Amino acid sequence: HANTGHGTARRRAAIPPYQKILRGFEDVRSVLGESRKLTLAEKILYAHLDNVEESLLENTNNGKNIRGNANLKLKPDRVAMQDASAQMAILQFMTCDLPSTAVPASIHCDHMIVGEKGADTDLPNSIAGNKEVYDFLETAAKRYGIEFWPPGAGIIHQTVLENYSAPGLMMLGTDSHTPNAGGLGAIAIGVGGADAVDALVDAPWELKAPKILNVRLEGKLSGWASPKDVILRLAGLLTVRGGTGSIIEYSGPGVDTLSATGMATITNMGAEVGATTSIFPFAENHVPYLKATGRSSIIDAVKGIAYGNESYNFLRPDSGCEYDEQVVIDLSTLEPHINGPFTPDLSTPLSKFKEAVEVNRWPKTFGAGLIGSCTNSSFEDMTRAEDLVKQAQAAGLRPKADFFITPGSEQIRATLEESSTLDTFSKAGGTVLANACGPCIGQWKRTDGVKKGEENAILCSYNRNFPGRNDGNGKTMSFLASPEIVTAMAYSGSTEFNPLTDTIPMPGGKTFKFEPPTGSRLPGSGFAIGNPAFLPSSAEPDSSVQVVVDPQSDRLALLDPFPPYGQGELKGLKVLYKVKGQCTTDTISAAGPWLKYKGHLPNISENTLIGAVNAKTGETNVAYDADGTNMSIPELGKKWKQQGQQWIVVAEDNYGEGSAREHAALQPRYLGGRIILAKSFARIHQTNLKKQGVIPLTFTQKEDYDKISANDEIETSGLWDVLQNGGEGHIKILVHKRSGEVVEIPVEHTLSKDQCGFVLAGSALNVLAKKTKP
Ligand code: SF4
Repeated sequence: HANTGHGTARRRAAIPPYQKILRGFEDVRSVLGESRKLTLAEKILYAHLDNVEESLLENTNNGKNIRGNANLKLKPDRVAMQDASAQMAILQFMTCDLPSTAVPASIHCDHMIVGEKGADTDLPNSIAGNKEVYDFLETAAKRYGIEFWPPGAGIIHQTVLENYSAPGLMMLGTDSHTPNAGGLGAIAIGVGGADAVDALVDAPWELKAPKILNVRLEGKLSGWASPKDVILRLAGLLTVRGGTGSIIEYSGPGVDTLSATGMATITNMGAEVGATTSIFPFAENHVPYLKATGRSSIIDAVKGIAYGNESYNFLRPDSGCEYDEQVVIDLSTLEPHINGPFTPDLSTPLSKFKEAVEVNRWPKTFGAGLIGSCTNSSFEDMTRAEDLVKQAQAAGLRPKADFFITPGSEQIRATLEESSTLDTFSKAGGTVLANACGPCIGQWKRTDGVKKGEENAILCSYNRNFPGRNDGNGKTMSFLASPEIVTAMAYSGSTEFNPLTDTIPMPGGKTFKFEPPTGSRLPGSGFAIGNPAFLPSSAEPDSSVQVVVDPQSDRLALLDPFPPYGQGELKGLKVLYKVKGQCTTDTISAAGPWLKYKGHLPNISENTLIGAVNAKTGETNVAYDADGTNMSIPELGKKWKQQGQQWIVVAEDNYGEGSAREHAALQPRYLGGRIILAKSFARIHQTNLKKQGVIPLTFTQKEDYDKISANDEIETSGLWDVLQNGGEGHIKILVHKRSGEVVEIPVEHTLSKDQCGFVLAGSALNVLAKKTKP
């Protein structure tokens, strides 16, 4: 235990480099002036700038308009990677030939474990099925000094919260719910593998300075309302796009009433409104959580910063600081919410949910209730759910819906075992799954007979509910709610049941009504450590370890660097495909079964653009070669690659929207794509393309989209000058039609000086590798 000292020895607490961070903050104060009022998120973010003056004063009207304008070049303190995205991050890192990572880093094996019968059988099966990937990650971790958390150790965000997150820290994670760590006062941002590599090799990581959206919490939660309901309500208010380009910063008297883990639930799901990240200020309730997780030393370090010198109050916003937008939520009047189906921002207060079920003709019953995951498996969540189970058990009731419990980590699982909470769940008929993502990421083998394509409902305390996310069935309506509401409703199996007001018939003929749940925020004697086999490997690099990649593997392949740009204009490119309509990162690099190949660029490239609609024929994934033969898009891409024929894709608006999947940039590049010419781009994907050496261009006049067809030959004019001049100048595209006619089309680019360097070198990674190699 953390406090009592018995059991396996606890690891040394990971303390952020506070001295360095504070020096950075002093620089910020001296550049912007002592009187400048800053939000908390700005303080922590700017304190991590590589070059404070350049970042804060360029393009900002001398520091007056930083948010939304400045290009921040940041040096994060730490990197965390989950097993699916770590593969490409590590493969990219390896091409830089460094002996160790520049900042502390960790790998967490959580995404590839299937939930079916329970942890004892599921975990060994998944380990066997993914052995070569785990071996690769483990050997790479040992070689480069990355802490490796083996399968079964827990879900990345829960493990990070328990071990690494701390007030004032800045970290990157290769997963969208990395902001979970913001519940403990860290700036934690979800990124792709190539971005993580920037931090791993000590290159500055770039971010357009976010706007700051303030959520002021008033009052105090009571009864059935929980932290989850704060974010379910906020998602309804802001919608899935409302947080784009912003950091959500929480403040107000309500903050001090929440538990540390409750704050993490809230920041976790900031990802659902598109926010860059979310953050809570250092609060009194962080203290007992840090203690219970064996990190009293952080409290000592933090107290010096937070209170040592009021004018330097680094871990709180300056009073009177300005926010770009503000939302107020009153916790005292907040009622439980249920969000969904199919989108996390369709938010319904519980009291109106029955009506919504009627009006929308949602299923009146649901087959499974699932609690836990990285979002909601705290001691508080689980003991409150346990209280409800005990109430129902005392009345002789059993859940009507299947009931699944996913602990977020071995630490929380072992603690819940000791408190006999898991035993209570099992006796009630619940299935305790492995400490892993499982049903939250589609790794769920349902055994209740619901067929693919069959409409049905489930209720879960997870964070995302897009079609097919949990069980691969696009017709499963997944509703998001707090663990308490999911648990109580599982006893009725009806979506129309409101546990606050309704009763359930008891075996003896009487009726049963739930009392509001009660639980404990923290275990009385600290957290248990659990099975020592789940503790991470050492952070000491060991150059004698060979990184294992089988050349015959179909899941892993070492990366060959992309070739450099060469000289002069691009000539003789051909239009591989002209896309009509929406083209998301899912369209460009589909997920589902393809996730298996995330570490094998040639194999995953077989899915390139398979969701794209042909602008001429309306067919999906049917491309035509010059002689009229048709085949799939990846087939034509491969054919042209073999022939040395480089190509471009033409597309419409918002090309590359959706998740920031870097494979959507890597794959076209691998197959010989040099330019994507679109009406407009999603910003993150546009940056990802440039990092991989692909040139994103937009039509100056959108109508010019109509002037290009598949198989036209393309030549650039002005590109070479732009690349030579660090982004200055204009570019035109010359379209050689098959009739012999040549059409000139003006286009726009967004290449910065650094990005011109990426394109010329072949990729950002090639630039890094050149710097790091002796
Ligand atoms: Fe992502 Fe779900 Fe895993 Fe959390 S539990 S890290 S949301 S897949």
